[in-house]
Formats: sequence, C-alpha cells, structure tokens
Amino acid sequence: MLVVKKFGGTSVANKERILNVARRCVEDYQKGYDVVVVLSAMGKSTDELIAMARDINPNPSKRELDMLVTTGEQVSVSMLALALGSMRIPAISLNAFQVAMHTTHRYGNARLKRIDTDRIFNELEQRKIVIVTGFQGIDKFDNITTLGRGGSDTTAVALAAALRADACEIFTDVDGVYTADPRHVKTARKLEQITYDEMLELSTLGAGVLHNRSVELAKKYGVVLVVRSSLNDHEGTIVKEELDVEKMLVSGVAADKNAARIAVIGLKDEPGIAFHLFNSLASKNINVDIILQSVGRDGTKDISFTVEEDVADEAVAILQKSFPRNEYKMIDLDKAVAKVSIVGAGMQTNPGVAATMFEALYDAGVNIRMISTSEIRVTVLIDEDNTDRALRSVHNKFDLD
Ligand code: ADP
Ligand code: ASP
Ligand code: MG
Repeated sequence: MLVVKKFGGTSVANKERILNVARRCVEDYQKGYDVVVVLSAMGKSTDELIAMARDINPNPSKRELDMLVTTGEQVSVSMLALALGSMRIPAISLNAFQVAMHTTHRYGNARLKRIDTDRIFNELEQRKIVIVTGFQGIDKFDNITTLGRGGSDTTAVALAAALRADACEIFTDVDGVYTADPRHVKTARKLEQITYDEMLELSTLGAGVLHNRSVELAKKYGVVLVVRSSLNDHEGTIVKEELDVEKMLVSGVAADKNAARIAVIGLKDEPGIAFHLFNSLASKNINVDIILQSVGRDGTKDISFTVEEDVADEAVAILQKSFPRNEYKMIDLDKAVAKVSIVGAGMQTNPGVAATMFEALYDAGVNIRMISTSEIRVTVLIDEDNTDRALRSVHNKFDLD
C-alpha cells in the first residue's frame, strides 16, 4: 500500500502542527505502508516571501521570485524530516530538483510534465518516509519554477499518479469540500462526495480548497482524492469520477473576487475585430473568461469580457497597443467586480436552475452585470461589494444548508 499525503500551510504552521503531521504519517508507516508526504510552506510564509521581494524590488523578476518562494517548502519538508528523526522514524526530505520534477518553463505558473520516480522508490525501499516539496519544479535548463499559488495539491496528485499510489489524501484546515466556503457561508455543509467535473468547476471558479490543476490531473489519471482535516479524524470528502450517492441539482456555490471587467466601446462592426482583440490577448497568455458583444449599431459595437484582476492593467495596455486610437471610442476597466457561480451535475437535466439563481440574486437586491453558463454551471458577474450577500442568498435558495 502506497499513500500520498499532502498537508497545506496551516497544517504545518508551527512546531505543534508539524509534530501532529509527523504522528499522522507514522500511523500509516507503522501499518507497513509506503508513505510519501507533500508539504506546503509553513503558515503564511509564501506571502511573506513575496512581500519581502516586493519590498526590495516592486517589480521582481519572475525567475527570482520562484527561486525565493520555493525556499518556503524547503523549510517545511526538512522540519518534518527532523521531527520524524526525533521520533526515530527514518525519513528523507527531497526538493523538486532532487526528485526531478520536470515542468514547463513558465515561471510562477509552470505545468508539470514528467516526474522521475527512481529516487523516491529507492528511498521507500529503504523504509523511509519520503517528504517532497510541493508547489515547485525545474525546467529543462534546471531553473526553479512554481506551479501557481496553491500548487502543492497538484504536486501531490501528480506524484500519486506517477507512483501509482493506492490513496491520495489532501489534508487541510477544513473538514472537506463544502457547499460553499465555510469561512464566508456559516451554514455551508460538507459534501460526502463530489465528481471531478464539479470539483474542477468549483476550484476554477474560486473554491480555493483544491488547486484546479490538481483536479484536472486527478481526473486524467483516475486518482481518487480524499480532502480532509489535518486536525481531526472526520471522514472528509471523496473526489472521483462517478458518485455512489444521488446527484444533487446544485453541489456548491463559489465566489471569485480576483476578476475584472474590461469593455472596449465603439469598435468597428466588421469581421475580424473579435479575432484581433482576443488573439492579441491570447498571444500574451492572458486568459479571457465571460465574453459579451453588443448588437452592432451605426457601424460600431462594444465587446466586454472578464480577466483575472492581477492581469487587468496588462490586458488594457495590450489592447491600447493592438488597436490604433481611432478604431475604438474608449476602454473601460472595472476591478470592483466578482464572479459568483453555482455548480451541479444535476443541472444538465433540470431546466430552470439559472432562473432560480437569478431569483435569489433579485431577492438579495443584487444586480447582474454579465452571465455565462456551461452544462454544469452558471456564473454571474456582480459588484464585488455584493459578493457575500449574493453567495448566502443563492446558497439558501438551493437549500444547500
Ligand atoms: P491549504 O493551505 O491546506 O492548501 P487552502 O487555504 O489552500 O488550504 O484551502 C482551504 C481553504 O479553502 C479553507 O480554509 C476554506 O476557507 C477555503 N474554501 C473555499 N471554498 C471552499 C469549499 N467549497 N469547501 C471547503 N473549503 C473552501
Ligand atoms: N506555498 C504555496 C502557496 O502558498 C503553495 C501551496 O500552499 O500549495 O501558494
Ligand atoms: Mg491550498
């Protein structure tokens, strides 16, 4: 039996928590299991390292930022190895370079390509607990890269797939995946199970409990995930392909405040304009989400869309460069917006779900600015100030409590 156990930042925030993680690993080790542990950096240390970088250079190079933040995970893995050593349990910590976790070259948001398993299997054969740094990788030139914020989940799932693990447990600071972020919606309820597809939508739409790419990988390689608390023995949530329980109409609601709306007003109403606009953003790796185009009038049209707030200024600058000043009237940027979404596999076969969501927003007096849907989700763009009120009203309307 080979288990991969991942612990997030709060689960390794201090000495007591690290000792707690050590004990949980030893339990499995003493059952005779092979234990591979993936850790995040202690507490808020990734945030602190980023702040430190920005303090000395407000515009830090992405390469150096990755070099810096990956030290956080190196601290936690060695601390756990030391803790296990103090209990006389053989353990070894390994960073991405030592394992050889190969990624693409994109600093700050690299993708895992291949993981060498020889070293890990070798250490496991010697009956050691193997502790691997989450979040980090190396590119083909041996530069250190990171997988994006929250990326340790993805390291864990990728390792579970590469090692053909029998179980992959994601330990965090809540009891599992809830119908909404339990920190914002007090009545949120823990889900026993959720499908990969639903979880992928939820995590992409703001449910930070799992890194969305980890869910993508879990689905691709059929890794069943268990999300549970590192601080108690409650059962947690199982993330897998098909549910044994009845499908819910709506499984959860999520909010994402890291959104901005850009409106390009008064574009020429002729073929090729949308292509030119979105192609110029795509060529600079800017992801566009909800898109709305107005009906053409007097030879002009408006195109609005959302991007992540962090890249909104860059997106506007790209558009200003791509379109001569006389080809549009103005570009409007609004950062004070948020996306609120409902996700549920049951939606596919039940009409009226979107209408119910809109009714909940109406009840809460929340105006909808944009709408987008897929087979299993409805997303609305609203004013950021209304986020929590909208979340609670929608959660309540679908009886998710
Ligand atoms: P870790 O450091 O363990 O990776 P994260 O902070 O990344 O922990 O993720 C756990 C947090 O995700 C929870 O504390 C919770 O506030 C948040 N969260 C957001 N949406 C959900 C949800 N639907 N279910 C559970 N937790 C959620
Ligand atoms: N330490 C990294 C972060 O804070 C990775 C992770 O926690 O998953 O984003
Ligand atoms: Mg996380």
